[in-house]
Amino acid sequence: MIDALPLHGHVRVALVQQHRPSHRMESAGALARPPTVMDSASPHEQMAPSPYTILAVDGQAETRAETKRLLEREGHTVLCASTGGDALSLLADKSVQVVLVERVLPDMTGTKLVEHIRDTDDLVQIILQNSHAGAYPSRELLRALAIQGYHDSSDGPEKLLHCVDIACRTHTVLERSRRSENLKAQLVANVSHELRTPLNVILGFIELMREGTCGAQPPEATEALTTIHRQALILLHLINDFLDLSKLQAGAVHLGCEPVSVSMIVDEFRDTLPVLLGDAPVSPRWDISPDAYAIADGSKVRIIVQNLISNAAKYTVQGEIAIRVRTNGAQAYVTVSDTGPGIEPENLERIFGLFEQVEAPGSCRQGGTGIGLYLARTFSRLMGGDITVESTPGIGSTFTLRLPAAH
Ligand code: ADP
Repeated sequence: MIDALPLHGHVRVALVQQHRPSHRMESAGALARPPTVMDSASPHEQMAPSPYTILAVDGQAETRAETKRLLEREGHTVLCASTGGDALSLLADKSVQVVLVERVLPDMTGTKLVEHIRDTDDLVQIILQNSHAGAYPSRELLRALAIQGYHDSSDGPEKLLHCVDIACRTHTVLERSRRSENLKAQLVANVSHELRTPLNVILGFIELMREGTCGAQPPEATEALTTIHRQALILLHLINDFLDLSKLQAGAVHLGCEPVSVSMIVDEFRDTLPVLLGDAPVSPRWDISPDAYAIADGSKVRIIVQNLISNAAKYTVQGEIAIRVRTNGAQAYVTVSDTGPGIEPENLERIFGLFEQVEAPGSCRQGGTGIGLYLARTFSRLMGGDITVESTPGIGSTFTLRLPAAH
């Protein structure tokens, strides 16, 4: 019988119940002991080799051997470990898709071993086993351990094989989706990298032309050059965000924190902000205390400041953008205030989430990717600081970067 549970209009869960006597009822009296893994309900023949390697961790030599025989008959490669320590050594060395963990091991509990495994591998499928029937673990425990399932010796070998089948299939699906995710991230990183080099060359030439190094420009060309310059800067910013995100997601971000002049880093943007503003009636205001130093990674501070300033320029159509740098005791602060559309109170935290974009009341969407503030907050926190925002819809926003000060 199939009981479909409609939830919010969708069928979310289907419980399948077979109306036949349970294995235990059928064999009541016939089985003086709980069925062992070899008491399979149907006779098994040796199956074709499977691509899966399964690790059976059990302190009892007899149970390990039985489990090994049962799973090898299914075509799996089976590794065995008698302790949690041996299991971890094997996992560090071999590619394993499913682990069967006995609840009690000679050197640690099964749940401790699962926690150790999960510290380094979130893909391997784990089935907790109990060769002493009864005492099912709670659903909360199984959920917290993020494991495939639980098998009790009284459930019999067919149930164990079924759990292993599902675990193997789940591993295949997860691995396939992880691989395609990685390929996509790699593609974005490669394309971004390839785009950045020619774009930097374009920007270099635009700057030379604007400075007059390539000869005087007619007035019509000056305006066109300013627009090309602005668009090229926006594109470079976008590409840099993609590259930084892929490095962050690949765990390839290395912070070199040392005393850096926050004042000098912010000052670098004095020339860029007017280009980003174009002919919008917005006045930049700079108030940079010259002696603001922080213990930070200069390249990451640059990314954060660039994101805050380019957002202010993007979202402010008139008024003022004020940039202030200060130290106050143990902290160095950069604040970027604008007279843009502001942000609704319920969105003040949301905007720091990855790919989160919100539309301010009365403003139209400004494009973008929703990556900038996520990177800015992540990097600031990795450096022991943070980013906060205060905003009044219709009046403007103030973003504050806080970093540990260097004295
Ligand atoms: P993006 O600007 O590319 O959309 P961000 O992560 O930099 O991505 O910003 C996330 C969202 O936060 C933006 O989509 C916008 O809704 C809001 N936001 C950021 N800065 C400002 C600002 N200065 N004024 C108003 N809204 C802002």
